[in-house]
Amino acid sequence: LRLDRFEKYPLTFGPTPIEHLPRLTAALGGKVQIYAKRDDCNSGLAMGGNKLRKLEYIVPDAIAAGADTLVSIGGVQSNHTRMVAATAAKIGMKCVVIQESWVPHEDAVYDRVGNILMTRLMGADSRIMPDGFDIGIRKSWEDAIQSVKDAGGKPYGIPAGASVHKYGGLGYVGFAEEVRRQEAELGFKFDYIIVCVVTGSTQAGMIVGFAADDRADRVIGIDASGTPAQTRSQVREIVDRTADLVELGRAVRDDEIVILEDYAYPAYGVPSKETNEAIRLAARTEAMITDPVYEGKSMQGMIDLVHKGYFPEGSRVLYAHLGGAPALNGYAYTYRNG
Ligand code: PLP
Repeated sequence: LRLDRFEKYPLTFGPTPIEHLPRLTAALGGKVQIYAKRDDCNSGLAMGGNKLRKLEYIVPDAIAAGADTLVSIGGVQSNHTRMVAATAAKIGMKCVVIQESWVPHEDAVYDRVGNILMTRLMGADSRIMPDGFDIGIRKSWEDAIQSVKDAGGKPYGIPAGASVHKYGGLGYVGFAEEVRRQEAELGFKFDYIIVCVVTGSTQAGMIVGFAADDRADRVIGIDASGTPAQTRSQVREIVDRTADLVELGRAVRDDEIVILEDYAYPAYGVPSKETNEAIRLAARTEAMITDPVYEGKSMQGMIDLVHKGYFPEGSRVLYAHLGGAPALNGYAYTYRNG
């Protein structure tokens, strides 16, 4: 894959560790070996997470465009807008982030703690909007871009999750290349990769990356959007664009894009009883912290798939931990008793 021809601005520590999770493996019956790739620990920038892999390929374009302000969008507890604010601070740009009201919430401090707290601390102009959940292109984001121009600035727009950006899929092609190198060192290959999917470029990049050794269909996307048709079509679009960019040399088939829709209930950002049980199990067996919006749902999905016998006995499953723990602060009421 021709990934090296794209400029990369370093925002992460480098390759992320893969660790075996023996106590979670045992708690799930011991027939499937569970590993995690810790992209949640990938950087010193404001607690890190998956968006930094994507932004490493986007920043050179923003610099080349002569921009002075990064403009992006997400929910109030968006990890993505935190990561854009962090990137702007690190590279010396300004930042405007639209934070939509994607999630109904009961916590009194939901809009003051966790991601949004850090976003404000890093100097971003954070603008809360009333609109509900939608991963698409929004007028409020376009208006924010215009507002920077009107003020004499040079905006650079980054869409939700850095996903439908032309280079949004490249970072997770890099993840696949990295896993292949780590597999060579470990002396075995993973049979499945579990990944949470919402705006789509994380899974789309992995699909293209793993299509190179013909195992794209082993990347199991766990939908956390609750709007899976839109997520799937966004993944499809990003797969095609990214495959062209890195010269995969063939089209990715629809059946190589695997997205399971069963775990996003009751809604985006709202954990089910099963989500919370999954979060507790990962925390109590491995001290691995997952959140109620994203990784808690992919953890729930992985646990259910193990119980259902989805993975043949002896399989090695790699859980992609993409970050997101800061959002837990907005759910203090939910977990006040642990
Ligand atoms: N996990 C975390 C912690 C996230 O912040 C996101 C972002 O949306 C995801 C998973 C899903 O990734 P993507 O939006 O690329 O599908």
